[in-house]
Amino acid sequence: MDKKQYERPIIKSLNTGLMNKFGTRTEYAALTHIEGVSVKSLLKDYGSPLFVLSERKIRENYRNAKRVFETRYPKVQFAWSYKTNYLNAVCNTFHQEGSWAEVVSRFEYEKAINNGVPGDKILFNGPDKTDSDLRLSIENNSPIHIDHLDELYRLTEIATEMDKKPRVAIRVNMDTGIYPMWDRFGFNYENGQAWDAINKIMASGKLNLVGLHCHIGTFMLTPSAYGVAASKLSELALSFKNQYDQDITYLDLGGGFASKNTLKGSLLPGADSVPEIYEYAEAITTAILNAGFAPDDLPYLYLETGRAMVDDAGFLLGSVISNKRLSDGRRATIMDFGVNIMFTSFWFDHKISPAQEFGHHTEDTILYGPLCMNIDVVRENITLPPLKPGDQVVVHHMGAYNISQSMQFISLRPAIVMIDTDKKVHLIKAAETLETLEKGEVLPEYLKEFNI
Ligand SMILES: *Cc1c(COP(=O)(O)O)cnc(C)c1O
Repeated sequence: MDKKQYERPIIKSLNTGLMNKFGTRTEYAALTHIEGVSVKSLLKDYGSPLFVLSERKIRENYRNAKRVFETRYPKVQFAWSYKTNYLNAVCNTFHQEGSWAEVVSRFEYEKAINNGVPGDKILFNGPDKTDSDLRLSIENNSPIHIDHLDELYRLTEIATEMDKKPRVAIRVNMDTGIYPMWDRFGFNYENGQAWDAINKIMASGKLNLVGLHCHIGTFMLTPSAYGVAASKLSELALSFKNQYDQDITYLDLGGGFASKNTLKGSLLPGADSVPEIYEYAEAITTAILNAGFAPDDLPYLYLETGRAMVDDAGFLLGSVISNKRLSDGRRATIMDFGVNIMFTSFWFDHKISPAQEFGHHTEDTILYGPLCMNIDVVRENITLPPLKPGDQVVVHHMGAYNISQSMQFISLRPAIVMIDTDKKVHLIKAAETLETLEKGEVLPEYLKEFNI
């Protein structure tokens, strides 16, 4: 065991009211290894900071979600939400497990094609599909999820011109009892827009309506909202059957299940308060099974689960740059990773573990990133042992959205590795360089020279 760090005795005033009911003990134990690989060696080999993904955890999450849904419902298909984390290594791990792809833009669509996903297994969502995007997805027989009437009309026109009958779904938004309601995407259920869109599709005869889609929100903490959504989609499907004597092939309940991250302001850590995936599964499958479909006519259930599949499979490792005392005496620690690669720190209090053993003394600390801007706060208040420059930490629940939403602002983006199921480490994205940043930049000739 490493020698414990000596901590000089200090006298400090105790503020009442800062303790939680478990005392002022640090939240977390040291975490020296991830999937059996030492944090120190990872940072030594790939530099600091560093994103680390656990392949084992991704597969475990996927298999658990699949099992939980398939034991409750006979026809289930997952489609990986590319925007949640579109590293090819992550996408392909999901594809190897049997997941299709769910994309919301042209480049995501092309990524899925390049990864080898068959066109008819790419669900195309999003409000911004160009004519060329629509043509490509019609050629590839991809289900197109229509967001608004203009898209419906353009698609009808393009389908006529191509003399093909594209497979489509409409995106439906609805009141599920969760506010604010996500009503900017798709057609509203309560005011009749969704039914109107269905009738328009059927009247044109140019599109093959195969599915109904909804995505009611993200990090949804109320499984019963999904029950409401599944009931409303089922109701539409049954009305459709009644009116047109055709079956809807699939109901797509979108994504939005919460991961175990801790929302800012919540009383308990996410690990203790967030619903388990089976609770969402129970709400959804019960609603569809009880909606009144004949057993042979049950629609497929598609799920586009993103964050709940990948968040806890991702870690960010980093190092301490320095400590300082703020003017009010609070301890501040400056880390080498900031909000430019931790976009989700605006919503979540990420669990952060020191990567080396520590003593008993802890102190409330504010964790800053390295950026030269005041909002670069990684944690506003965290109880940590004193960390010295060079000490390392592990940030948990970093797999969802942080990588796809990261940006090179002041700091370039770090390397990303994946630890495979045999504990072998693979570089899946190299750290950026100035060259990466300047790629595509064009400096006009007349600006190349100056004299100062
Ligand atoms: C973002 C998104 C998802 C994934 O959402 P999560 O909250 O990450 O599960 C699924 N479907 C659509 C249409 C999306 O936009």
